[in-house]
Amino acid sequence: MATKSYQNLIGGRWVPARSGKTFLNVNPANHDDVVGEFALSGAEDVADAVEAAEEAYKTWRLTPAPKRAEILYRTGELLTQRKEEYARAMTREMGKVLSETRGDVQEAIDTAFYMAGEGRRLFGQTTPSELQNKFAMSVRMPVGVVGMIAPWNFPMAIPSWKLFPALVCGNTCVIKPAEDTPLSTIHLVETLIDAGLPAGVVNIVTGYGPEAGAPIVEHPGVRAVSFTGSSEVGRIVGQNAAARFKPCSLEMGGKNAMIVLADANLDLALEGALWGAFGTTGQRCTATSRIIVDKAVAGEFTARLVERAKSLRVGDGLDEAIQMGPQVNQQQIETSANYCAIAKAEGAELLCGGERLTGGAHARGTFFAPTVVGRVKPGMRIAQEEVFGPVVSVIECDGFDDAVKIANGIQYGLSTALYSRDVNLAFRAMRDLEAGITYINAPTIGAEVHLPFGGVKQTGNGHREGGTGALDFYTTWKSVYVDYSDKLQ
Ligand code: NAD
Repeated sequence: MATKSYQNLIGGRWVPARSGKTFLNVNPANHDDVVGEFALSGAEDVADAVEAAEEAYKTWRLTPAPKRAEILYRTGELLTQRKEEYARAMTREMGKVLSETRGDVQEAIDTAFYMAGEGRRLFGQTTPSELQNKFAMSVRMPVGVVGMIAPWNFPMAIPSWKLFPALVCGNTCVIKPAEDTPLSTIHLVETLIDAGLPAGVVNIVTGYGPEAGAPIVEHPGVRAVSFTGSSEVGRIVGQNAAARFKPCSLEMGGKNAMIVLADANLDLALEGALWGAFGTTGQRCTATSRIIVDKAVAGEFTARLVERAKSLRVGDGLDEAIQMGPQVNQQQIETSANYCAIAKAEGAELLCGGERLTGGAHARGTFFAPTVVGRVKPGMRIAQEEVFGPVVSVIECDGFDDAVKIANGIQYGLSTALYSRDVNLAFRAMRDLEAGITYINAPTIGAEVHLPFGGVKQTGNGHREGGTGALDFYTTWKSVYVDYSDKLQ
């Protein structure tokens, strides 16, 4: 079958990269199935995209917000019709199983409907003035052209978290999807166009980070930057944006802890651990990567976890019977293998997995065995650094206070979970865990679009996606004073 070519979207037209160069993406489950050929963009393509976005901004900012919202609403409806098609394409593109890629598209649908509702709110405030016959208010204004740089692990959901609030607020956008997953962003934006989005309001440049991502941050026409990805790249993006005084939202890595206390419902905690650690093949910013379990139940819990991890069906995510797909690329699988070696060298024990799967149906894909690491101490690198693969560490603790101390003893602060039946401890966990998200008796994953999403410490720089917090990033406040006294007051 001929390889399908996809181009950049600039000013409403699909165009090749100025250099004419392209890159190929393959299905990580087999490496034979070529997903597509994409434009390999550089700074000149970004400049074209920004120019188109600046032009479109002139009219989009004046389009009434409820009208902008109607396009989002229609996008939600169209995505609902296309959900299965896009989910299948996403599984081919990045490997996660169909039930999860359906969930990824659903997240975009939920965000479309939620942000469409915001088009009839976008509230400001009216306030009293210090003077008679004077009126004061604050109004939300769009920011202008917003640059967006996305990761590959939620290839439709995360672009929708960025694009939909930005659009409803009246901004125009230049988005660079991750090099592993451009197709899902193209599908999302094709749907926006079919729903009536005018030309140039969203522009896509595909390609690699330093060549196509960095110029977005650096271009003077880009007024704000929204980045999701690793803390390592986030630091570069944040510094480049700060040097240009640009608002920049950074959503970065995690090392998420699930605490299992002695009184927990262990069956529930076990299911939560499996889903949290091995869902999306562990490649979630909110993945459960540390299970901090009370020593009173650690033996039983760990034995059951290992048994279940070993029995997970790993393979091509397009097969409905499969529970865990491949890792997205060769580099990710090498990172998982390296961390297993580091853990062993530091004195931890690989209780199951720890290696690439290479036989039979796994021969041509980037499959890594579900891995449980035991005898992990809080200071070990396996307990401190993000692996971003199906590798979970079990750390024993001595009661609630010790568990919280271990959970907080890292540089990241995205998601946390506590399994306990003690309501007092549940509220203390809510208060004391240093994280943007805390679940009680539920795994570290499962965000809902109308709540703020983001982390503290080195996971984020204080902005939030989802909820009304997203509107705060994509608007700027203007204070307006209207003096209707017609005289010097
Ligand atoms: P990454 O940092 O390697 O890449 C993210 C994006 O940045 C990609 O589009 C990439 O091309 C681009 N990029 C790379 N170098 C760049 C540069 N110099 N300038 C500008 N852009 C550049 O991350 P990834 O591997 O795609 O995604 C995995 C990471 O994302 C993990 O660390 C994960 O925790 C994190 N993540 C965080 C969240 C969150 O909301 N906190 C959500 C999902 C993923």
